[in-house]
Amino acid sequence: MTIQVRALAGLPLARGGLDRHGELRSRPDVLDGLRVDPNARAVVLRGRRALVTGDALDLLDPSELPEPELMVYLGSTVEDSQGTPPGTDILLWVLAEADADAITEDEDRWFDLRRSGHRLSDRDVGILATSLAIAGWHRAEPFCAHCGSPTTVRNAGWARHCPVDGNELFPRMDPAVIVAVVDPQGRILLGSNAMWEHNRYSLLAGYVDAGESLEQAVAREIFEESGMRLGAPVYLGSQPWPFPRSLMLGFVAPLAEDQDPEALVPDGQEILDLRWFTREELEDPATDVILPGPSSIARAVIDEWLRGSWSR
Ligand SMILES: [Zn+2]
Repeated sequence: MTIQVRALAGLPLARGGLDRHGELRSRPDVLDGLRVDPNARAVVLRGRRALVTGDALDLLDPSELPEPELMVYLGSTVEDSQGTPPGTDILLWVLAEADADAITEDEDRWFDLRRSGHRLSDRDVGILATSLAIAGWHRAEPFCAHCGSPTTVRNAGWARHCPVDGNELFPRMDPAVIVAVVDPQGRILLGSNAMWEHNRYSLLAGYVDAGESLEQAVAREIFEESGMRLGAPVYLGSQPWPFPRSLMLGFVAPLAEDQDPEALVPDGQEILDLRWFTREELEDPATDVILPGPSSIARAVIDEWLRGSWSR
């Protein structure tokens, strides 16, 4: 099966970005140099939240910050934005809870990307998505996968090294497919997850299995969760979802020609309810259906369908 591509522009967490300067990571002195560079700036993380003023990241002079638990060179900015000229080097600065509290205990200054990422500028969304992904990896995988020894940070924060057997570890993301299934009447298939409130619905999604292609994962996940057989999927785009380490790959797919849309079979474990929705139902101001949040790729794909793509 081949995959067609119809890229969606401006996915909420895939905007902007950094020049990551991978070639600088192997220089042993890059972090020591940047932490005293008056032109470098640091994004401050406390757990999974970042220091902001309003909806803009606070990018601070690293020489004025407390010693971090973890420092990573993220790269440099690519355009003139919010007071940082292009080429401004950005450090990730992960603080211990007490040191973060000393900066501010105002909860509104600590920003949650998952809930509010759509409100950030392109510059800031790129910085914060990368920060959460790399910080989450260091938090989750401090030990060597071969021998279990504690590992040390290398490559400006982009690798860990085992001092016992020399094993090198690198950050990874977990690919997951998320699929807008559309029936011949132009309706969209949404499911309600067992872990959500009863009227929250979203696209069906799942992790790519070991040894599986993306197109195989799309067909398998949708059949497992709904009993529906699909025609050829169309790739829409991707965005990081660093909660903690997913890469979401969006697709739209029609039903297979002989598939009866009414033969829905929720898996009963992950998905408790499945429904075909028309645009009129979801746009009805009286609807009590709760859709996924505006930072998610699911919402971006549903909004694209609501605008009339793929069936009108
Ligand atoms: Zn080891």
